[in-house]
Amino acid sequence: MSNVSKEALKAAELWQEFLKIVTGRYSQETCENFFVPMEPISFFEGTITMGVESPFIEDWVSGNYTDLIQDVLSQIAESPVRLELVVRPKLEASEAKLARKKPRISKAPEKIEQPVSSPMPKKEHKSSEVIKKKPLFDERYTFENFIGGDSNALALAAAQGAVKSPGERYNPIYIYGGPGLGKTHLLHAIGQEIAKNHPTWQIAYLSANDFLNEYLAALREKKMEIFEAYYCSACQVLLIDDIQFITGKPSTQDELFKIFELMRGSHKQLVFAADKLPSEIPDITDRLVSRLGSGLIADIQAPELETRVAILQKKAAAIGLKLSSEVAFYVASAIPNDVRNLEGALMRLSAEYDLNGRPLSTSYAKEILGKVLKINPVAVSVADINEAVSEFYHLDPKLLTSQTRTKKVARPRQVAMYLCYKHLSTSYPALAKDFNRKDHTTILSACRKIETLLGKSEAEIVEAINAIEKRLRRG
Ligand code: ADP
Ligand code: MG
Repeated sequence: MSNVSKEALKAAELWQEFLKIVTGRYSQETCENFFVPMEPISFFEGTITMGVESPFIEDWVSGNYTDLIQDVLSQIAESPVRLELVVRPKLEASEAKLARKKPRISKAPEKIEQPVSSPMPKKEHKSSEVIKKKPLFDERYTFENFIGGDSNALALAAAQGAVKSPGERYNPIYIYGGPGLGKTHLLHAIGQEIAKNHPTWQIAYLSANDFLNEYLAALREKKMEIFEAYYCSACQVLLIDDIQFITGKPSTQDELFKIFELMRGSHKQLVFAADKLPSEIPDITDRLVSRLGSGLIADIQAPELETRVAILQKKAAAIGLKLSSEVAFYVASAIPNDVRNLEGALMRLSAEYDLNGRPLSTSYAKEILGKVLKINPVAVSVADINEAVSEFYHLDPKLLTSQTRTKKVARPRQVAMYLCYKHLSTSYPALAKDFNRKDHTTILSACRKIETLLGKSEAEIVEAINAIEKRLRRG
């Protein structure tokens, strides 16, 4: 057998094993749309080369699944495996086979629609297809699966308002917030719910990039009439995600402005999502800024601890993973900002559980996540942490583990307990012992207190934690 075919065989074997492990653990959609269609090409010197069908899939897989794939393959191969992706559009025959398998979620197929600059072959649309296009939503992104909290209350209420009376209450709605905070989830939820209530309606959900590509394709293929007829008359709801990407595209902005005016004039619901306010988008025309901000602007902030715990529990239940509230609390405290990272952590725990079958205790979760997410940069001891905390607060370290309840000591002690919990693989009861406490609830409430203050970006606490962690990193 030639080396080339041996490499291909090994890659195929590894991939088979990988698929066995992830099937059933990840949603059927993820497996069918991303993992199964990947093509093992070769495995050589620790690098597995996998073919993917499009630049979109390449981006998506490398952004979301690289660590997982590398970790699982490394465990199978019993040595480190690096993933390399190459875009290899499938041949006609296999394309047809895939088309028959029709993926159930929208993200992949929708975005696979060729970007203008794509090297992939162009698919011809008949005009009737263009007019009747149907957005396929991610069926997990529903209102039911969206956990509400103070951080997203306004955006959630606005989204529900749009469903209740599309085009009548808040129009347009502009949802903005940092990455991974649920903007796309809400747009899908709006779209799916309105589609349920109005089965005959045309609902457009697309990103600003998709809009740009569609617009340019329509121009190039001289189908502007069809393009405009779709948005201006056929379509009842327009949901545009990541509208900040419209930056620096003046003619697309003008086209969107025109569509906006016509749609809003006929009370059709418009919803935009972005990571910035309209006025903060660079290179955008004043009139579009004013239109985007002319309805309800609703921000989404990073979720509070309680919300993060609830999100984790909901997502764990959805994949059939048993997650104790202590572990959920630990993960939620360790990953404060981005829900996507929370999900990544959950996936990691779930994959480890699958591989090793070890019950997920807090210390085991810490071990796994500390390694993977680098949330444990200061691998130290209780004594080190207490020393750094007392140095920062100019206290005798013994006071931290004493029974003294003075105000001067109480806050530094909470900080010390929080940092120990965050950075050491120690359970609450064990930490309670280290701090001479009878009961682990003291540690739990100290962590909650500090988390709450951090959640509110209380300057004093943020500065203290940063300074102490910096000191610990220096050793
Ligand atoms: P964004 O578009 O803001 O970057 P997404 O909507 O893609 O973020 O959300 C990232 C992930 O986090 C998704 O899987 C989404 O379901 C989840 N998520 C975010 N916020 C929530 C929430 N409040 N409840 C449940 N899941 C959430
Ligand atoms: Mg998004």
